[in-house]
Amino acid sequence: MPKTIVLIVAAGKGSRAGKSIPKQYVDLAGRMVLSRTIDAFIGHQLIAGIATVIRPRDIDLYRQATDEFGDKLLPSISGGKTRQESVHNGLKALQKYAPERVLIHDAARPFVEELLIGQVMQGLYSHDAVLPIIPVTDTIKQVADHLVSATVKRADLFAAQTPQGFNFPLILKLHEQAQNDGNSAFTDDVSIAEGAGIDVLCVDGGLDNHKLTTSRDMKIAALVLSDQQTFETRMGSGFDVHRFDPGDSVILCGIKIPFGKRLKGHSDADVAMHALTDAIYGTIGAGDIGSHFPPNEAKWQGVASSVFLKHAVGLVRERGGKMVNVDVTIICEQPKISPHREAMRAELSTIMEIDISRIAIKATTTEELGFTGRNEGIAAQAVATIALPTALE
Ligand code: MG
Repeated sequence: MPKTIVLIVAAGKGSRAGKSIPKQYVDLAGRMVLSRTIDAFIGHQLIAGIATVIRPRDIDLYRQATDEFGDKLLPSISGGKTRQESVHNGLKALQKYAPERVLIHDAARPFVEELLIGQVMQGLYSHDAVLPIIPVTDTIKQVADHLVSATVKRADLFAAQTPQGFNFPLILKLHEQAQNDGNSAFTDDVSIAEGAGIDVLCVDGGLDNHKLTTSRDMKIAALVLSDQQTFETRMGSGFDVHRFDPGDSVILCGIKIPFGKRLKGHSDADVAMHALTDAIYGTIGAGDIGSHFPPNEAKWQGVASSVFLKHAVGLVRERGGKMVNVDVTIICEQPKISPHREAMRAELSTIMEIDISRIAIKATTTEELGFTGRNEGIAAQAVATIALPTALE
């Protein structure tokens, strides 16, 4: 496998973005642009290393942007006065790793996709230079003195993107030649290869792989990112039964109710909280109480059922989900539930850390029919709905 290194060019001043700090360090929906750009390459199987060219004075910003990557990055490289000089500095610094290929990428293109990176790398098997392009959709005019002088034939026009892929020794040599020739007007690296008569293979660029240039670009990108955080509704149901034993109280939804019997079973036998907990596990396909807290394990004997409920809610939150509402029905002839309903709602609200308005508790008898009708035990059922972030396709 040829050794490939990514060189990210982040040495620009970015004054066009209208911010006091360079655009690659601007916060974009909670994360710096450069962090997002680097993240697009991190973990790519075929990439041996990632290095970033920066302005030395931005070193603190660079550290902030890359803190999350720990030691996964190659050391940063000091840029030059122009983009071309910065890339040249970067290539010279990468020589010591002896890469066979390099992908040169703009820091301000955080939305580059894995598929595109793969296509550029694939293209390097047959060509020494690879360019992602997208068709130009607007009609292009030549204008002189505020008057149209010509309409340019659009079918031949494409916009150049990055990452641009190269045979490493070749692009380093071409940059050196350009510098020796005093030719410093190149705005991308493929132009240097073109100038030297190298065949540049074009692959389909990404429609989302925009270069964030203006503050408006930033706003639109932030909107797109927040749009991606869409939620879907998930529902789960739970059911449980516990039988009565001799005793003096039952625990339902965390509230101890004096009664001439107790409920027998696993933990504190809070049948209502068990049904609710299973409903919540159901929203995310996460099994049931028995699978997380096996009844044959002694450590769960007599434990408060709030431990289970907190666990289920915690799993939902770990996935970025939010509790929407829960609805519990307790089925028994006795004890009377209604005097305790508000205390139960308040208790569940505390345990689940959701507003009491999202919690319903209802009670019913079975008209003296069946096991609950015969006062042999209590049944409970529950449904829960949650909002879960939709996975990006
Ligand atoms: Mg149970």
